[in-house]
Amino acid sequence: MSLINSLVFGSEGSYSILGIPVTFHKESRAGLPNQSPVIKLVTEYFNKFYYIISQEYLNAFMHEMGHALTAKLFSLNSKIVILTNSCNSETRLTSAGPWKDIVGPWKGTVILASGPMSSLAFSTCKLALAIILKNYIPPLIFLVLNISSLICIARELIFVCNSISRKDTRDYGLIAQQGNIYLALAIAALLTEYILAAFIVNNLISSYL
Ligand SMILES: [Zn+2]
Repeated sequence: MSLINSLVFGSEGSYSILGIPVTFHKESRAGLPNQSPVIKLVTEYFNKFYYIISQEYLNAFMHEMGHALTAKLFSLNSKIVILTNSCNSETRLTSAGPWKDIVGPWKGTVILASGPMSSLAFSTCKLALAIILKNYIPPLIFLVLNISSLICIARELIFVCNSISRKDTRDYGLIAQQGNIYLALAIAALLTEYILAAFIVNNLISSYL
């Protein structure tokens, strides 16, 4: 029950899921300088409400599990940390040494790409399920499933594009740092998944709605 609370409401807790340590943790943040306590509290509650409605905790969990399970396939141990007040999350390899020395570029590319791809696969399944069950679930649940899936699908694409253009330290930025061949393959894999997702959802919409 506490895992469900963490996934839905962002409650703090530590779990072991498929042998992967997962921690939901509230970071202590000072907030902006001179920010009034009331504004800070309202912002905090508004963010929390948004994260719950858009199922951000669950989406972050699925994204990180994609990284962690792929790392496990390569016999690499990792742990997941999800910050509950900002919804920032990361998968840290627990093996000692620099990232590039531990995994190498090919394995690194697969592990990095698996986060957004897992997130996209999960959101597409959720959207498909909502469309199929439209007549059997309450309209509010249908709306929440649709909104949360579409936000996640769009956000992953925006993050990927942004990360590539900046070559930053997020998933596709790190892949871009490894070289054009790795980036081209990772983009091709993600685009194929997006096209497949659009095809599936489009067919379901014409059949069920
Ligand atoms: Zn990621």
